[in-house]
Amino acid sequence: MIIVVGGGAAGMVAAWRSALKGHRVTLLEANQKLGVKLRISGGGKCNITHDGPVEAVLAAFSREQARFLKASFHRFTNADVLDLLHREGVETQVRDNGRVFPLDRPGSAAAVVAAFEALVRKAGVQVSTGTRVMGLEGRAPRMEALRLQDGTLLRADAFILATGGASYPETGTWGEVAGWLKKLGVPTLPWTPALAPIPLKAPHPSWEGVAFRDGTLRLLEGEGGRRIGAFPGDILFTKNGISGPGALELSSRVEAARLKGRAWLAYDFTGLSAAEADAGLRREQIENPHLSARNWLQRWVPERVAESLWGAERLGDLRLKALPKNVRSRLVDWVTAFPLGLPGAVPLERGEVAAGGVARSAVDPHTMRVHSWENLLVCGELLDVDGPVGGYNLQAAFSTGFVAGESA
Ligand SMILES: Cc1cc2nc3c(=O)[nH]c(=O)nc-3n(C[C@H](O)[C@H](O)[C@H](O)COP(=O)(O)OP(=O)(O)OC[C@H]3O[C@@H](n4cnc5c(N)ncnc54)[C@H](O)[C@@H]3O)c2cc1C
Repeated sequence: MIIVVGGGAAGMVAAWRSALKGHRVTLLEANQKLGVKLRISGGGKCNITHDGPVEAVLAAFSREQARFLKASFHRFTNADVLDLLHREGVETQVRDNGRVFPLDRPGSAAAVVAAFEALVRKAGVQVSTGTRVMGLEGRAPRMEALRLQDGTLLRADAFILATGGASYPETGTWGEVAGWLKKLGVPTLPWTPALAPIPLKAPHPSWEGVAFRDGTLRLLEGEGGRRIGAFPGDILFTKNGISGPGALELSSRVEAARLKGRAWLAYDFTGLSAAEADAGLRREQIENPHLSARNWLQRWVPERVAESLWGAERLGDLRLKALPKNVRSRLVDWVTAFPLGLPGAVPLERGEVAAGGVARSAVDPHTMRVHSWENLLVCGELLDVDGPVGGYNLQAAFSTGFVAGESA
C-alpha cells in the first residue's frame, strides 16, 4: 500500500501512475477538493506547460535545477502531459510565447483539475479529501506512518510526499512538511519567495495600474551602484509596489540582495547607456528643437507618470532647444534608470512558487527517493525547484510526480 500526501499537480500524477503500476494507493489531501492551487493557476486559465523540445524547456531553469530535473522531464515530457490531457478531452492551445493553455473557455483550469481527478479515480486510487497530515513517524531508513489530526496513525509500504511549497497558504500549502523532514535529518533549505510582487519602500499608489513596458528591471547594489541582476520585462505598479513579469522574475534575487542590505531598483526603458541616451537627446535637440521636453519623455515613460514627474519638478513648458543641462541629465536618468528605490520585504505568501524545500542533493533524480530512506519519496514544489513563469513549474510538478509514482 502506498500513501501519497497532497492532491495537487504532483500528487495527483504520482497517485495515478503508482496505481497504474498495480499498487493500492491512497491520496490524502487537506482541502475539501483536489487541485486547489492548480485551479487558480495562470489566473484561472492554467498555463499547463511550455511548448518545445525537452532540453529547451529544461534550459529555462537554473543550470543546477535543470541537471536535477533532466531525467524526470525526459521520462514524462511536456508532450506526454498534453497527450494525457487530450485523451481526457481537454483541448489545448500554444500561445505565441510558447505557453500552453487549455482552449480559452471559462473555467479552463478547472477542466485540467477535473481531467487529473478523473485519471486518479479511474486508476482506482482511494481519495481522502479534508484530511490533513499532522506528522511523520519513522527513522531512516524507514518511514513507518503518518499522523492525522485525530491522532490516528496511517501505515504504508511507501510514502510519497507531494505537499507543495509555502506560498498562497490559503490553498493548503503551509510548508510545514519540510520542517518535519528536516527534524528527521532530511536536508532542506528555508522557504524563500519567488515569482512574487515586490513592495517598494516608497510606493506610488497613484500610479496603480500603470505599466512600464518593453524595458528591463534592474537590481543595483545601491543607488547608482553596481548592477547585480536584471530581467527584461514589463512591470505593473500596484498600491504598495510593483508586479508584472519583470518584477516576479527578479523577486527572489531582490529578496536575497535586500537581506544582505544592498538592493536598489531601477527601470531601464531604452537599453542604452546614459551616455548613449544623452547623445540621442542632444541629436534630437538639434533635429527637433521645438519638441516639448515632456513629449520627448512620453516616448518612453507612460503619460500618467511623466505628468506627475513634470508637475513635481515644476518643469513647465520646456522645449528641447531650451533644455538646461541639469534637466537634460534628469531626463536621461528617467529613461535609462528610472528610480524605483529600495524594495520592502518580498512576501513569501504571494509568490507563484516558493524557493527552498527539500534539497535536490537529498533526492535521487531518477526515482525521487530521498537518500538513506527506503520508502520515502518527494516530488513537486516540496523540492527545492523553482522555474520561471511560463508553465515550467507545473511541468516540474507533473514530471517529478510521475517518476515518484513509478518508483514507489
Ligand atoms: C496564483 C498562482 C498561479 C500559478 N500559475 C501557474 C501557471 O499558470 N503555470 C505553472 O506552471 N505554474 C503556476 N503556478 C505554480 C504551480 O501552481 C505550482 O508550482 C504547482 O501547483 C505545484 O504543484 P504541487 O503538486 O507540488 O503543489 P500544490 O499544487 O500546491 O499541491 C500541494 C497539495 O498538498 C496539500 N497539502 C499540503 N500539506 C498537506 C498536509 N500536511 N496534509 C495533507 N495535504 C497537504 C495542499 O493542500 C495542496 O493541495 C502558480 C502558482 C500560483 C500560486
